Amino acid sequence: MNIDINKLVRKNIQSLTPYQSARRLGGKGDIWLNANEYPLAPHFNLQNSNLNRYPEPQPETVINQYASYAGVQPTQVLVSRGADEAIELLMRAFCEPYQDSIIYCPPTYGMYSVSAETLGVQARAVPAKSDWQLDLPAIEANMENVKLIYICSPNNPTGNLINPEDIKSVLKLAKNRALVVVDEAYIEFAAEHSVASWLKEYPHLVILRTLSKAFALAGLRCGFTLANEPVIQALSKVIAPYPLPSPVAEIAAQALTRDGLTTMKLHVVNINAQKTKFVYELRQLLCVEQVYSSFGNYVLVRFKADSNVFKQLWDKGIILRDQNKQPGLENCIRISIGTQAECDAVISALNSL
Ligand code: PMP
Repeated sequence: MNIDINKLVRKNIQSLTPYQSARRLGGKGDIWLNANEYPLAPHFNLQNSNLNRYPEPQPETVINQYASYAGVQPTQVLVSRGADEAIELLMRAFCEPYQDSIIYCPPTYGMYSVSAETLGVQARAVPAKSDWQLDLPAIEANMENVKLIYICSPNNPTGNLINPEDIKSVLKLAKNRALVVVDEAYIEFAAEHSVASWLKEYPHLVILRTLSKAFALAGLRCGFTLANEPVIQALSKVIAPYPLPSPVAEIAAQALTRDGLTTMKLHVVNINAQKTKFVYELRQLLCVEQVYSSFGNYVLVRFKADSNVFKQLWDKGIILRDQNKQPGLENCIRISIGTQAECDAVISALNSL
């Protein structure tokens, strides 16, 4: 009984700081604007009666529907447990542990480095420039042993799109050396900026998508990888045997019907309208230094120094996402776009600080 289990844990896991979320930290709030979820729950009917059977490993209906929605071939689609699983599958299939590296460009989404550290893959941070665009010379200078370059567009948490010409430059310098992974988790909010149509031209381009944001299905855990066939086949080798529970596949199939897509587009219209209003109101506040324009369902706000906004709102039951520890994001908080009532509550709480 006295065995110290902690000593048995792999060294890199002992030192790992896991992905932090307010739910994990036990946040107790009435208003959750920390995880870029859609604020209202959609309704679906479950009919599935075959729970005694394993599900289809890659449910054909869902794959075909997503391919048609994304404008790619079904052979260019893999479905996984959220985009998060795909971030890690890519490393498992393409990076030799304790030898290869990935590049990511902070400030950006946290899971690229967490997944790499979990797997013994070196996560090489190449910080974005002050305008949050890619630092191309620095990426080029750091390419040794790099197998994957993660680019997030629209970027979480800054909200900017990455210049398409810069993505092309990265594709050029990565040719025959590494895959370029464009994380389009938020692309529905800026749909015309997707690079999915570039797959024909670039065998080493990979695109990540999800139903968690504009489709309002974060609880479903359903994400998609778009890539050319050799990449999809390599990922298929390392994914779990039956990654997608059959009720998940059934709901995903409903969400991807013509009606489902219409609903998703309405979500986008609602959120983008709400965002415009919210940004305008935030900009009037005394405690706010800057509100950055965003192409996602969230906004990044820089508050005046020492305003301690995150903690004060947390104490009032309004849970936001503190970004203070990301490079260049001192005093910054990311706020998901919620309902009108939720956005109003944030504005009035900030007004009364
Ligand atoms: N990529 C980005 C940029 C994200 O913000 C998120 C979720 N916060 C994900 C991927 C993961 O999405 P999913 O819910 O599909 O795992």
